[in-house]
Amino acid sequence: MTERIYYTDSYATEFRAAVVDATPDHLGIYLDRTAFYPTSGGQPYDLGTINGIEIREVMDEEDGRVAHLLSAPLDASDVECRIDWARRFDHMQQHTGQHLLSAVLLELFGAQTVSFHLGAESSTIDIARGVLDPGEVRRTLERANQIVFENRTVTVTFRHSSEDLGIRKPTEREGVVRIVSIEDLDQSACGGTHVRATGEIGGVLIRRIEKVRGNMRVEFLCGMRALKRAHADYEALADIARAFSATLDETPGLVRTTIEKLQDSEKARRKLAIEVAQARGRQLYWETPHASDGLRRARRTVPEITDELRAEAQAFAGCERAVFCAVVEEPPSLLLAASKDSGINAGQVLKEAVSKAGGRGGGSSTMAQGSVPTLESLNSIVTHWA
Ligand SMILES: [Zn+2]
Repeated sequence: MTERIYYTDSYATEFRAAVVDATPDHLGIYLDRTAFYPTSGGQPYDLGTINGIEIREVMDEEDGRVAHLLSAPLDASDVECRIDWARRFDHMQQHTGQHLLSAVLLELFGAQTVSFHLGAESSTIDIARGVLDPGEVRRTLERANQIVFENRTVTVTFRHSSEDLGIRKPTEREGVVRIVSIEDLDQSACGGTHVRATGEIGGVLIRRIEKVRGNMRVEFLCGMRALKRAHADYEALADIARAFSATLDETPGLVRTTIEKLQDSEKARRKLAIEVAQARGRQLYWETPHASDGLRRARRTVPEITDELRAEAQAFAGCERAVFCAVVEEPPSLLLAASKDSGINAGQVLKEAVSKAGGRGGGSSTMAQGSVPTLESLNSIVTHWA
């Protein structure tokens, strides 16, 4: 078993140790004692150096040993170790912040924490509760930060599992149990690294709430992460506010009303586009001369069949003795509209023609649409119509 310095001292950043074992390539080494935290309990591993060689990963092994994976082989019996303190302290802030938030969520709403993840950007806890409304989020945030300001002590004690531990979440651990306590608030069984007083958490920010498998997932950041994130959010909001020439507080309301206005004007634009298409259809009718059989036939090539095209066709074929045909070359498809007095049943005629060409389509007696496999068959169909 490796002696774990961080169990009793989370602030040890430099230490000496003896190498007790190594992998054959000397890239993995085992020490008699270590302050490097191996990934466990939701907290990621520490980085740093051993005799100046960068650590790539630290792992907890089942036999109780800690494996240090190095970026270059190391051959030594005594080593000098240095922890990447910025990374470790950040982890200590997020992890203690998690204990604090979990305790507050239990205190305020009776919500147990079921899992914890400390990520590179932000951290999450899943709580056994189906909802957490904005008012509850604000209460959680205020209570957690109040306890930060009170700078309550965070202590580590070792107890035996047979005792009444009075901890927030039962542990399955047998024998000696490490208990991390926040003064007058919380006691948890935990092997992670924590700050010594809540003030060092440096502020808690809740950033996202989402439902995950029946639980609520609470995304949070502490310390410098919270500051940086809040500043990035400020910059994003300020950017939007500038575009509206408004203050930050006015911006959310302005965005909402602008979206509503946009939706209204899009609706109006579509209505006008249909009216223009109908006028175009009627104009085209009057510009199209009669054929010898008395029918006016119009043919158009278009990039696609749209609502506007259908409106144009309907207006054209809404006049007397009229046949309107539109073709799309890619993919080969067509639209046929015919006036009631034209003697042509658009649905029937189009269905027969496209079926013969191996395509499909149909519609009403005055308007029909279909597609065919090739441009040649499309052209040969429409030459009979217009
Ligand atoms: Zn912990």
